[in-house]
Amino acid sequence: MIVKVDKDLCIACGDCINICPEVFDWDEEGLAEVQVEEIPEGKEGLVNEAVESCPTDAILKEEFAHVKSTEKEYI
Ligand code: SF4
Repeated sequence: MIVKVDKDLCIACGDCINICPEVFDWDEEGLAEVQVEEIPEGKEGLVNEAVESCPTDAILKEEFAHVKSTEKEYI
């Protein structure tokens, strides 16, 4: 699973960072950003919770279960 924050939609409420600080943190502009390339094992549930909690649907989630890691860059 890969997630991204659409910073045009982020209103800096901090919910995602509170829910899963291992994955989300503030950037230099005070908006949320994803800190990891891939979600660490065992954190998918918290990331899903963060996605659901985001009031502006700013967290975009993509599943790559069917794609080999070497092919990701071509998507
Ligand atoms: S939950 Fe959504 S709006 Fe709130 S800080 Fe995270 S990405 Fe931004």
